[in-house]
Amino acid sequence: MAEATTELGFDPDALRAKYRQERDKRLRDDGNEQYIEVTGQFKHYVEDPYVEEALERQPLTDEVDIAIIGGGFGGLLAGARLREAGIGNIRMIEKGAEFGGTWYWNRYPGAACDIESYVYLPLLEETGYMPPKKYIDGADIMAYSQQIARHFNLYENVCFQTEVTEVRWDESISRWIIRTNRDDAMRARFVIMSNGPLNRPKLPGIPGIDSYKGHTFHTSRWDYDYTGGNANGGLDRLGDKRVGVIGTGATAVQCVPHLAEGAQHLYVFQRTPSSIDERNDRPTDHEWVNSLEPGWHQERMDNFNTLVSGGFAEKDLVNDGWTEIIRNLLFMVQLEKGSELTQEQLAEKMELADFQKMEQIRTRVDKIISDPAVAESLKPYYRQFCKRPCFHDDYLPTFNRDNVTLVNTDGRGVERITEKGVVANGEEYELDCIVFATGFEVGTGYSRRCGFETYGRGGESLTEHWSDGARTFHGMHIAGFPNCFQLGHVQSGFTANYPHALNEQAQHVAYIISQLNAGNHKVVEASADAEQAWVDTIIKLARVNEKFQADCTPGYYNNEGKPEERSLQDTNYGLGPVAFFKVLEDWREEGGLQGLELS
Ligand code: NDP
Repeated sequence: MAEATTELGFDPDALRAKYRQERDKRLRDDGNEQYIEVTGQFKHYVEDPYVEEALERQPLTDEVDIAIIGGGFGGLLAGARLREAGIGNIRMIEKGAEFGGTWYWNRYPGAACDIESYVYLPLLEETGYMPPKKYIDGADIMAYSQQIARHFNLYENVCFQTEVTEVRWDESISRWIIRTNRDDAMRARFVIMSNGPLNRPKLPGIPGIDSYKGHTFHTSRWDYDYTGGNANGGLDRLGDKRVGVIGTGATAVQCVPHLAEGAQHLYVFQRTPSSIDERNDRPTDHEWVNSLEPGWHQERMDNFNTLVSGGFAEKDLVNDGWTEIIRNLLFMVQLEKGSELTQEQLAEKMELADFQKMEQIRTRVDKIISDPAVAESLKPYYRQFCKRPCFHDDYLPTFNRDNVTLVNTDGRGVERITEKGVVANGEEYELDCIVFATGFEVGTGYSRRCGFETYGRGGESLTEHWSDGARTFHGMHIAGFPNCFQLGHVQSGFTANYPHALNEQAQHVAYIISQLNAGNHKVVEASADAEQAWVDTIIKLARVNEKFQADCTPGYYNNEGKPEERSLQDTNYGLGPVAFFKVLEDWREEGGLQGLELS
């Protein structure tokens, strides 16, 4: 063992080699193509199981000022910030039967947010709401989404159970025409798109997937009629069922403990283990609540965002697993007199701190899991941010139960599905039900993921405009697509706390529309030059992260192991969210709507 090993408690070279070996096992030629789109014979996987009453209404051909597509936090925030700015006549369009977005669809047992609720939930001071716990349940988040909608009067004019099928700019009237699956052809002066980055469920393209005769569903359309119980668990109809769950990402981590409690036997089919750290939930402390001063919410969100984006803050207000990871990494680097280190030395230190963190995660597995072979299979061997880190206190102990079998496919994934069940490692597992915890489309085309095409000036489609990669100004405006705003993280600031980024974008949109109205302008769009300059910036900054992504085990963060195939344009603003929000703020302060053309 080298001297460095003794000091660190691990051998960096050995770990590096192990990570490479684990990644190489998982690299596959088909990348994103390994998954099946939920259309055609698989369409039922996206049907809404939660609708209580099917909506009947006449097609709409009316006009609104602003149509907002998506009733999740992005749409709600846009609506809220526009209302605050005194801009009326808004219509929200949502395919679900209620507000909630992600939290409308993901109602699986155990669904909860593992980012602290006091920073994750937007508009807490505006609505006066205080979450009951540090990590709030999914059902409460959905209820809170509705509270936001009521508070800002966003139920007025809303179209639920309505799927947009096409958005087209009509040059002759300078309006967007929005067509839907209800034969609507509504007109809108502005359209704001907040479709959700992970809204389209995907299935693994496993041979035989269409031959299975048992029951199946995707976690984002949970079938409680079949399982019994509710989001709190109690899946009492599974007592005589052999259940298989495919996937071990953040969703599986939350629902597996409940499936294990309900099922006669649970088989968990694992391709890559997640990293599981402590969550340590606790009720909201009322003394703390009473001590809060106005402005506390933004301060806390900013503090969290700074720490999880590699910045420095005097205090760590959230102080949980998310911020600890980053704190450790940075302090390790700082202790080494960071300022005197070259970029390369800095990266090396970061790598060591990452190894150390992941060693801690792996040791935790050994401490919890009684069978050493199972423990070994549950250990993640990759850098912490190659995949989304998970925080859960009941997931790992589940594998100590007699009625739970971990089927570790050692990176290969499930081989086949038969009429009776799942084949992995050459063995067939007969199952009554398969739950697909296989995630959502990320690396596919934007319009495919939205479920509709957008046509701008001259009938150019967004798919055509983006055929060589995404093109935007500030991630939000697109040249040739006037009066259209996109909320999301492509070419924008990405943060683990996604609603925070949406809030910044929503405020920005409200500012721009207010400015237009004040100046009596009718149409705004990015100039081709501003768009090109932003694309160039995104590409230049994206290169910084290339090697890290290439060394990672495959997943949706690195385009399923093919980061080089994803256009460098289709990524986030490389200097991180703190810098990105500052770009927007400085731009507003500068005034004059630079880079936008008004008419
Ligand atoms: P993921 O994409 O993270 O996970 C999909 C899982 O399916 C992976 O474990 C993947 O393995 C596995 N898989 C795919 N194909 C196969 C196959 N052929 N055989 C075996 N396994 C397979 O989706 P999730 O729904 O878990 O999570 C999506 C995102 O939603 C998260 O990353 C997170 O951002 C968010 N989320 C947030 C929560 C929160 O608390 N805030 C809670 C839940 C989700 P492999 O890793 O090898 O590709």
